[in-house]
Amino acid sequence: MKATLAPSSLTFLPQSNPTCSFRSSPPSLGSLRPSSASMTTATARGSVAVTAAATSLRQGIAEFYNETSALWEEIWGDHMHHGFYDPNSPLQLSDSGHREAQIRMIEESLLFAGVTTEEQRIKRVVDVGCGIGGSSRYLASKFGAECIGITLSPLQAKRANDLAAAQSLSHQVSFQVADALEQPFEDGKFDLVWSMESGEHMPDKAKFVKELVRVAAPGGRIIIVTWCHRNLSQGEEALQPWEQNLLDRICKTFYLPAWCSTSDYVNLLQSLSLQDIKCADWSENVAPFWPAVIRTALTWKGLLSLLRSGMKSIKGALTMPLMIEGYKKGVIKFGIITCRKPL
Ligand code: SAH
Repeated sequence: MKATLAPSSLTFLPQSNPTCSFRSSPPSLGSLRPSSASMTTATARGSVAVTAAATSLRQGIAEFYNETSALWEEIWGDHMHHGFYDPNSPLQLSDSGHREAQIRMIEESLLFAGVTTEEQRIKRVVDVGCGIGGSSRYLASKFGAECIGITLSPLQAKRANDLAAAQSLSHQVSFQVADALEQPFEDGKFDLVWSMESGEHMPDKAKFVKELVRVAAPGGRIIIVTWCHRNLSQGEEALQPWEQNLLDRICKTFYLPAWCSTSDYVNLLQSLSLQDIKCADWSENVAPFWPAVIRTALTWKGLLSLLRSGMKSIKGALTMPLMIEGYKKGVIKFGIITCRKPL
């Protein structure tokens, strides 16, 4: 798909200008971690609490997606991520229009990262936080590549494998339950490391990024598309209490730990000496997405499916307006961060 829209104006190349357009000071790696799940706790008692918090988060994420994925697939198909839209275009999109927008999100992300079919042969892809494998199957078909997807949800892994079999892609694509923070892969295995809307679930962003870098092949690309909070201003230590409160309410329902900003991700990648680091704020491009999801939830079919699906889905639906509020008030940013591992 040809992109018709340049990524929005927050694009920059931090390698050549380390301060870029960020106004926040670089965080220490530790400061990216949620206080409740900090991995740097010194005492033994503290580290037991950390492990327990991380385990309970992992379990919560697995249960959330076990319960909600079938509903999402029934109504929205196999891509569990935002669509990419032209801001200011007329918005009476049909269902297929939203699906195209979700595929466009994949294409725009590849384009932004400079991954083209001609540029470099992509032979192996890892889809970190794969959902039911929509991106994996798409990327495997596009590049003729092998793709492995990992998720915390056993139901998602099974459904993703079943869909791959139904599409005669089992020889190329496979899915398993594994933790993104401890990936079961050798170093340097993948030409493309893909994380589409899974980073927000990671309790230790530094460890997450390190794992993405570890499994990337020399010269390989890493693409992180994720929910972030706004960049902090110079001198600002934290979000405003009302902003934090809004995010906390979203965290509870969607099983998210503390959020970070796109500039936090860039700083992490810089600290690991990655190349071609780029990021952009695509919040405007995804603005129509949540209103559209809410509209489908409010149809008879949507309401019945929600009731059948269970409490986690219902709570999720009730939290959607907070996402819209977060974007509108500029607290939530939809970020893309990409880079290349040095040869
Ligand atoms: N990337 C997919 C799904 C996004 S939903 C898509 O675009 O369709 C978020 C996904 O992240 C879920 O599959 C969830 O299981 C996964 N996830 C969250 N935390 C994870 C972790 N620590 N390890 C592996 N997968 C994780």
